[in-house]
Amino acid sequence: APAIELRGISKAFGPVQANKDIDLVVPRGTIHGIIGENGAGKSTLMSILYGFYRPDAGEILIGGKPIAIADSQAAIRAGIGMVFQHFKLVQNFTVLENVILGAEDGGLLRPSLSRARGALKRLASEYGLQVDPDALVEELSVGHQQRVEILKALYRQADILILDEPTGVLTPAEADHLFRILRGLRDEGKTIILITHKLREIMEITDNVSVMRRGEMVASVKTAETGPAQLAELMVGRKVLLRVE
Ligand code: ADP
Ligand code: MG
Ligand code: MG
Repeated sequence: APAIELRGISKAFGPVQANKDIDLVVPRGTIHGIIGENGAGKSTLMSILYGFYRPDAGEILIGGKPIAIADSQAAIRAGIGMVFQHFKLVQNFTVLENVILGAEDGGLLRPSLSRARGALKRLASEYGLQVDPDALVEELSVGHQQRVEILKALYRQADILILDEPTGVLTPAEADHLFRILRGLRDEGKTIILITHKLREIMEITDNVSVMRRGEMVASVKTAETGPAQLAELMVGRKVLLRVE
């Protein structure tokens, strides 16, 4: 079964139909891009997967099983981890404190600090997410803070990681490092959903890409079988001339 399947997801905010009858299939162990112009409905769709909004209609299947995602704890129990655009880290706590903070709410037992430190170090070295467990978050670069967010999701045993515009806050070198981490996670069988409006990132790192336009999912294709001009055309609904870089 696919890692995630959406069938007919719709969500309106008053008169604004943010998501219209969205179908999506994300195979396990792939990096799946979701691209669309600002306002296309990408963040709304991801917020539904994280239990921030209830859809007006539609079904979510995780590993082939229909589930209701009533809140973020339900999303965590379903193996979904969200790496937020605006990090939700406590700045004057250490990395370790941030990673274990609230983990018990996800149905996990409150871990002993030394066990948690060991688990964190194993995860960090397994996935190339080197961060010092005892560093204060406020002293870390933005790129390192993002790694803490990823560690937090992995510590909660996420199988599916959702990243919404993750490179917006990164330097080019940090973005390269993030992509190496994401490829490593994918190669270990994790499923990654990468939301971006940057065509270059879609072409560089995704296995498959779905295009949203004005609340609708207008196409899902294998990345190797498409190109930036075709994707740009799908995004805006008409032919576009891409500047050659
Ligand atoms: P994207 O992430 O692709 O930029 P969004 O999902 O954020 O798009 O927004 C899709 C549409 O829904 C936009 O028209 C936006 O203004 C609207 N929208 C999103 N969230 C809300 C909200 N909480 N209340 C009202 N309108 C919203
Ligand atoms: Mg449909
Ligand atoms: Mg958005």
